Amino acid sequence: MDLTLAPEDLALQRTARAFAREEILPIAAGRDRDYPPEEAFPWHLIEKLDGLGLRTLTVPKALGGCGASHLQQSLVTEELAYGDLGVAVSMDQTFKFTQLLCEETTAGQRERHLPGFLADPKALLAIAISEPQSGTDSFLLYEAPGAGPRMTAKKDGDSYVLNGTKHFISNGGLAKYYFIFARTDPGKPMSQGLTGFIVPLGAPGFTIGEAHSKLGRRLLRNGELVLRDCRVPAGDLLGEWNNGLAIFRRMVSGALIPVMGPARLAFDLARRAVREGGTAEHQWVQMAISEMYMLIEAGRTVLHAAAWHGGQPTDDSKRRLMSKVFASEAAIKVCRMAMELWGEAGALHFADRPTPEKCWRDVLSYLHGFGTNEAVKLKCFPLIPLEGEMGW
Ligand SMILES: Cc1cc2nc3c(=O)[nH]c(=O)nc-3n(C[C@H](O)[C@H](O)[C@H](O)COP(=O)(O)OP(=O)(O)OC[C@H]3O[C@@H](n4cnc5c(N)ncnc54)[C@H](O)[C@@H]3O)c2cc1C
Repeated sequence: MDLTLAPEDLALQRTARAFAREEILPIAAGRDRDYPPEEAFPWHLIEKLDGLGLRTLTVPKALGGCGASHLQQSLVTEELAYGDLGVAVSMDQTFKFTQLLCEETTAGQRERHLPGFLADPKALLAIAISEPQSGTDSFLLYEAPGAGPRMTAKKDGDSYVLNGTKHFISNGGLAKYYFIFARTDPGKPMSQGLTGFIVPLGAPGFTIGEAHSKLGRRLLRNGELVLRDCRVPAGDLLGEWNNGLAIFRRMVSGALIPVMGPARLAFDLARRAVREGGTAEHQWVQMAISEMYMLIEAGRTVLHAAAWHGGQPTDDSKRRLMSKVFASEAAIKVCRMAMELWGEAGALHFADRPTPEKCWRDVLSYLHGFGTNEAVKLKCFPLIPLEGEMGW
């Protein structure tokens, strides 16, 4: 086993690391504290990321992109998240759904939508399944017909008509293209009655609702999508009618979360504080720093391993989901320990410098994303056949 990163992995990591420290970190705390949710997103950084070739990181080389692997994607977003988790997630969503746009679509769909995505330096992507009445049940295996989204899509002539509301959507209101999942046979469970559609911003009947005001990841816009008799041309159905769940699960499964970026920042902030504050020689402080290091090292290892398996025959949803649970809980613990090591300053808001408090608020969101951690733990093991292998 060789865990050494290849020269091209290291080059990407270096580019993203420098960008996070020079461009994102200096503005993140101020936007987090002082900007309303509709205005906090730093668009100018997206154009710069595009200039570096990072916005189109996962577009296959044959189509003019970098053709980055899942591991490279994970390395880049971890570095960006050191600057700000919201910016990293905006890119991460775009990286994942670029793969959807390039690999799960028909030649006609690529012809219609890919040039608009490639040529526009601010084009981002989003996926939408969550609704006010459905959350975790859209991500895990619930076979009851009543589980999952309520949004409907009905065929009408040569188009589909979508009705319903999505919420919590990352890049909601920022993205140019949306992959929206609706019930096409509400009497059946999601595995037999859910279909995905490609819906560009500005489609008739598609409006952006509220931008949620969040505890963390405040630079990223999470919003509502409102579809009222929204017409989608028949050619923009994603994959097969009533078989959208399989595509959704392949795309959104939790391995690629950049949660160790803020944990690493909190660790650096804690080490600096104990050195400057003269507490570094206390045994408890030394033990805390060692424990934070172990949690970061373990969290990065499970995430990188899950990303490395991504797209290969060894890939599996249990590993991907469990890596998100472990890494998010490790990151939350690291950030909380950093807050303790900062003393009272750990509980203060500052708009002019990075703080462990912001790191902690940011990583908390992964307790819920992709299905809540509790529900993932509850539901993941019944998915594994008793006599099956763990892949060890
Ligand atoms: C920052 C952020 C970004 C997001 N981005 C997107 C996005 O881009 N696209 C998108 O579609 N969605 C997105 N989401 C939504 C996210 O996927 C949901 O929040 C998640 O699926 C959980 O759903 P919920 O919040 O409705 O909680 P619920 O699923 O309603 O959970 C509420 C409570 O019930 C518990 N619970 C749920 N199921 C069970 C069970 N079977 N047994 C026992 N207890 C259970 C949970 O553990 C929790 O305590 C985002 C969420 C956040 C926080």
